[in-house]
Amino acid sequence: MNTAGKVIKCKAAVAWEPYKPLSIEDIEVAPPKAHEVRVKIISSGICGSDSSALNGIVETKFPVILGHEAVGIVESIGDGVTQVKPGDKVIPLFVPQCGLCRACKSPNGNLCEKNEFAAKTGMMFDGTSRFTCKGKQIYHFASTSTFSEYTVVSDICIAKVDSRAPAEVCLIGCGFATGYGAAVNTAGVTKGSTCAVFGLGGVGFSAIIGCKDAGASRIIGIGSHKDKFPIAKQLGATECICPKDYDKPIQEVICEMTNGGVDFSIECAGRTETMMTALECTYCSNGVTVVLGVAAPKEKLSLHPGLLLTGRTLKGSIFGGYKGPDVTELVLDYMNKKINIDYLVSKKLTLDKINEAFELLRSGKGVRSIVIF
Ligand code: NAP
Ligand code: ZN
Ligand code: ZN
Repeated sequence: MNTAGKVIKCKAAVAWEPYKPLSIEDIEVAPPKAHEVRVKIISSGICGSDSSALNGIVETKFPVILGHEAVGIVESIGDGVTQVKPGDKVIPLFVPQCGLCRACKSPNGNLCEKNEFAAKTGMMFDGTSRFTCKGKQIYHFASTSTFSEYTVVSDICIAKVDSRAPAEVCLIGCGFATGYGAAVNTAGVTKGSTCAVFGLGGVGFSAIIGCKDAGASRIIGIGSHKDKFPIAKQLGATECICPKDYDKPIQEVICEMTNGGVDFSIECAGRTETMMTALECTYCSNGVTVVLGVAAPKEKLSLHPGLLLTGRTLKGSIFGGYKGPDVTELVLDYMNKKINIDYLVSKKLTLDKINEAFELLRSGKGVRSIVIF
């Protein structure tokens, strides 16, 4: 049946209010307007940031359709869309690429000024939503809203990918690119270096893969769930430690293990204490710390400037520093077996089981769950 130009009725997981489980609802998805694309979702990962949106750590408007780590097929396009056509396989981008702003024109950085992180409109760029449910308007999330059988995204929030790419590549839409890019792009991990990765979730595991691919000789994974240590080691961690096993601060333990500190540390837990620990465990003269975790709005980092004065660098990145076309390349790298994301998928579920996936994420069990539509 040709659905182009028509409202599509489909299933979506709606978050009616914060701190509550998602509800599987019948929703209406309006056709794409000019420079918009309607996408039939194939799979969507459940990222720590989706959980943080539900828990008030990422400021979000409700009711909302969460989800921002997906792969799908273009169902129809609005006027003026030239990058993709119906039938193309695509990854929605939560970091847009307008190509015109200062950030897009710069070779450094990737945070297009059209991003939703500061604006937090919960809307398409024309200020309206494409979703309704039970007569109510539903907000968009992170320019993507992928916990729905169909979504609408702007044509600056989409990357065309290899038509053969399997459901697992949804992870390239956030978690994998974020962690991997933090190591290879933001930190610039060097051959033979020592690295510490804090927080063994989907992002942390991807950072470990990035450190390994960049040639690090020692990669220390720091986490509280020891059942995940064997997978971390399979992916490239040379050792894994649990802070609870030591009677002194873990930064001291790491400094002792590494003759004064690691060259690179990557924070993937989203806690300010862990961010400080990540900074303090780097070597004074040249240590680099990359913050990826999202902390609650009122949280602050408090540090003595001497930590930086002595030569350390503290930085962060969104989506691993990648821009839209890089996503196409990452999927090709996966297809050509240059990168492996398969171990990151610990569970596949159907949409009606999405709250189970949120529970697994909250309890720190498994690495990444993905919804298969
Ligand atoms: P995740 O699967 O929940 O992983 C986070 C890991 O951090 C957990 O598995 C846990 O590791 C550790 N952790 C969480 N809460 C903790 C606590 N209270 N105490 C100690 N350790 C804790 O989440 P994710 O998807 O990997 O995302 C990680 C962070 O990156 C989140 O803050 C997320 O919002 C953020 N993020 C940022 C970007 C970006 O562009 N910068 C993109 C995606 C996600 P153990 O089980 O090993 O203890
Ligand atoms: Zn831009
Ligand atoms: Zn994410």
